[in-house]
Amino acid sequence: MRALVMEQGTDGLAKPEIKDIDEGHLPEGDVTVRVEFSTLNYKDGLCLSPKGGGLVKTYPHVPGIDFSGVVEASDDPRYAPGDRVVLTGWRVGEIHWGGYAQKARVKADWLVKLPDAISTRQAMAVGTAGFTAMLALQALEDAGLTPDKGPVLVTGATGGVGSVAVALLANLGYEVAAVTGRVEQEPYLRALGASIIVPREDINQPVARPLEKATWAGCIDAVGGDMLGRLLGQMDVNSSVALVGLAGGAAFSSTVVPFLLRGVKLFGIDSVTMPYEARVRAWNRLATDLPMGKLEDMVQTATLNDLPELGAAILKGQVKGRVVVDVNA
Ligand code: NAP
Repeated sequence: MRALVMEQGTDGLAKPEIKDIDEGHLPEGDVTVRVEFSTLNYKDGLCLSPKGGGLVKTYPHVPGIDFSGVVEASDDPRYAPGDRVVLTGWRVGEIHWGGYAQKARVKADWLVKLPDAISTRQAMAVGTAGFTAMLALQALEDAGLTPDKGPVLVTGATGGVGSVAVALLANLGYEVAAVTGRVEQEPYLRALGASIIVPREDINQPVARPLEKATWAGCIDAVGGDMLGRLLGQMDVNSSVALVGLAGGAAFSSTVVPFLLRGVKLFGIDSVTMPYEARVRAWNRLATDLPMGKLEDMVQTATLNDLPELGAAILKGQVKGRVVVDVNA
């Protein structure tokens, strides 16, 4: 089987190499999957970097935090050869070998059977990024968000999470405001369904006033940092923020005032350890609510050979939309 393997040099730094490896080297697990597609997330960029971003603990290592494919063999009664499956999270691609290979072996508990309406390629156009966008949307809906409540802010909008969030929200009838540092991508964001474009510099600043004009009925935040601190003061009464990422930084500074005077809620989203039932619920919603034509418009296709360069680019915030990796190309 062909795989992208990170090998550690004598200098302690890891380098990617595409090579044929014996299937016998696959880690232990109940289900062997013939991988068809994988993808690229910010975390993959970290795992492809020379120090593994602090996520990879042992080498040689096969990254790829997501994959989709067809079951080849299963010791678990829930899966049979020929089943189409998807895997996201569970630290696969970080501490367990992942999807940048023609085969993967994993625990049955980590897999989800794909809904009929989603192809293995579409599943990786969604990937952890899109799956997480859906989890964030569900958190906002569960807290009472509906399209009549007002505009919803999406930060890091041209990125993977952001692009899917914009398309999902717009398809469900929400007015979507997209925050981006790449204003030249306005046509892309409008095509996905954004109707308001917020330049990043307008909002990516430390909090000056605890409360600003109450503007957003909800927010899916992939950026964190100063932007999160600032946008909390712009949230409407009884609105919620689903915090997904830290593309703009881990630390944030704000005040308690939006929580106390406007009842703003802040939900953390962790896609990695999301329980099985919630995963099935999210994939089923993606099958019905994500416009697959728009999903295709945000996808670029890549091969294993392209990954080292793409991994470096995503860490610099230079990848637009979603990358689908055809591991057999
Ligand atoms: P991505 O494709 O790289 O998107 C991130 C976007 O954030 C960029 O495209 C850019 O959008 C914006 N951005 C980048 N650097 C920035 C900066 N310094 N300041 C402000 N904005 C910046 O990554 P992704 O896959 O969508 O993931 C986004 C974040 O969510 C990452 O931090 C990732 O680790 C996290 N994540 C978390 C979960 C979870 O379970 N919680 C799951 C998936 C992802 P614009 O150019 O449009 O501004």
